[in-house]
Formats: sequence, C-alpha cells, structure tokens
Amino acid sequence: MTTETLDIKITKSAQSRLAQTDFSKLVFGHTFTDHMLVADYADGEWKNFEIVPYGEIGMSPAISSLHYGQAFFEGLKAYKHADGQVSVFRPDKNAARFNKSAERLCMPVMPEELFVQSIAALVDVERDWIPTADNHSLYIRPVMFATDPFLGVVPSKTYKYVILTCPVGPYFSKPLRVKFETTFTRSAEGGFGYAKAAGNYGGAMLPTRRAIEEGFDQLIWTDAKEHLYAEEMGAANVMFLLDGKLVTPSTRDTILDGVTRDTVIAMAKDWGITVEERRISITEILEGARSGKLTDAFGAGTAATIAPVGAFNFEGEEYTLSDPATREFSNRVFNTLNDLRYGRIADTHGWNYMV
Ligand SMILES: *Cc1c(COP(=O)(O)O)cnc(C)c1O
Repeated sequence: MTTETLDIKITKSAQSRLAQTDFSKLVFGHTFTDHMLVADYADGEWKNFEIVPYGEIGMSPAISSLHYGQAFFEGLKAYKHADGQVSVFRPDKNAARFNKSAERLCMPVMPEELFVQSIAALVDVERDWIPTADNHSLYIRPVMFATDPFLGVVPSKTYKYVILTCPVGPYFSKPLRVKFETTFTRSAEGGFGYAKAAGNYGGAMLPTRRAIEEGFDQLIWTDAKEHLYAEEMGAANVMFLLDGKLVTPSTRDTILDGVTRDTVIAMAKDWGITVEERRISITEILEGARSGKLTDAFGAGTAATIAPVGAFNFEGEEYTLSDPATREFSNRVFNTLNDLRYGRIADTHGWNYMV
C-alpha cells in the first residue's frame, strides 16, 4: 500500500467497558480500551488495516516470532488537553525508530504516514478513554511480529501489526533506589540494544528480578565490555546534571535512542544549559555524588516519564542524592513536559501531533 491516506475499516465493539473502568486505580498496561488496530503484511505490502474490538487473535503455535524472536514494539502516549483536544507526542520519532528496529530484525518497514495515521485513527476512536487527570494519558503500544507458520531460522514473509491502547497513570510513584549492574548486560556492541526488540526485555528480566530481590527498585546497565560506563536505567535512558551540565550516554548500538531523552536534550539547549552526550563512567558519577557536583539524576522514557534517582548503590556502597522534590532541573523538565503535552504552553518545536 502506497496511498497517502490510509483506508481503515472500523468495526465497533457492541458494548463499551469504559463505564466499568476506574481511572483512579489504573495499573500500567492492565487496562485496555475497547478497540485495537490490526494490519497484515504479505506479498510485499501492508494491507487490511482494521480497527476491531479488543480481544484475542488466533495464531499458529509455529509462528516464527515465538521461536526466533522476530518481534518488536513501540511506546508513545496521547494526551487530552483542557479544551478537549487530543495530541500524540512526537509520533514521527517513533515511526523512525519503528523502522530502525524493523531493519535490524529483517522485518518490513512501514511508511511514516501509515504508522502515524494508524495510531491517530485508533486514538480518535478511543478519545473517551483518554484520562484527563494530571500525569494520566493513553499509552499506545504498536507491535509487529512474524507470522509465518513453520520452523525455520529465516526471516518470515508475513507479519502482523497490532496497536493496543491503555489508559495509564504515573508509572513510578517514588524516587528510585538503583544499583549499577556489573555482572549482567542488556546489550553489547554489534547487538541490537538500540532496537525495541522483544528479546531485549526478556533477557533483562532475570537481572531486574535479582535487583528487586536485593531491595532495589531498578538497575543501571553498564557497558558489556568493562562494566565501567553507565548505559541506561532499566527500560529508560539515564541523565545526570553534573557541574551544571546535562550529561547523558551518547547513543550507539547498545543504547535505545529515546524520544524523551531527545526532548529533554532539546529543552536543556533551549534553556541555555550545556549538553554533553558522551560516555560517562561510574567513577565520575560516584565522585559527583560524593562532592555534590551531581545535582540531579533521573531516568527518561515515555512510560516512566521523568523518574528521579534517590540513591545509587555500587558494589554495596550507598550514595544518597538530594531530595528529588528540591531538584531544579528535573522538576522543571517534568513540569514543562506536562505543560507542553497537555497543551498549556506554546508548542514551539511542533511536537504535539493533533488528532
Ligand atoms: C523505550 C525505551 C526507552 C525510552 O524511550 P522513549 O522513546 O523515551 O520512550 C529507553 N530505553 C529502553 C531500553 C527502552 O526500551
């Protein structure tokens, strides 16, 4: 399909579950809206874009995504403004990353306009599901997976694209106590850490579970080769304010190029703050924590938004940072991001895609 406007067949659910949904008790990713979008890739093209009632889909147990991991996803959010308008935050960036993931996994790309229009169409149908409370939004989860029903370690010829939507509230509710992970790795040079590939998250579960068993909330991944440099925090990018500069690991094979990360960098530049995208060693972070030069540290991601680090732990030694409530930079970022997404301030960068 190469047409500019997407032809989407819509089948509405017989009965909405909206009235029975308590928006004050949302657990991230547990509540789905009434509909989902599905599309197929076959014979070299994307087709059959359809919005249907949310529910199970039949699949062969031989599909290669299950056996060989040809599967990846995206994550973005829609916000409801006070005047009732709805925006999706920077979907063009997610479209670009969607296609980077697709290429790395030998899966078909999707033209940006199809990706964005398919999201907008579903969000439009689910308008009433977008929460209006502060820090609430509609999480949008596009996923693509291989559907060839045979066992062979070769790229599939057929794929399914699905978009799910979930009303969500805040992800983390308190400052995080995190450890530097120096045994396990999330990704290595030449690997596919930069892709939102399903397999990256399955592999992260054991190290994360261990960290939680040890009493931490989250972990900071370090480089696979030497375990000396910070890479990411769980499934979020990690950012520091060191000596008044915003310092964050530069993107490479091993690091996911986050939309939130990119947004925070752009905002810092707008505010005249020096930004350094480079490797950052654990030693430098811990020295900053000791000397007081490290005045802020947080995770940045669509799901987690801005998640302040309350304390670091490195091989048993604890470094407590300043009270997150008193931190100038991350609070300014958090508030400005919210103001922008809920349409309370001018969108000077054109980041809000209006539905
Ligand atoms: C999704 C994700 C992020 C954050 O990216 P955003 O585009 O800001 O949501 C960072 N790291 C990993 C590993 C991720 O999966």
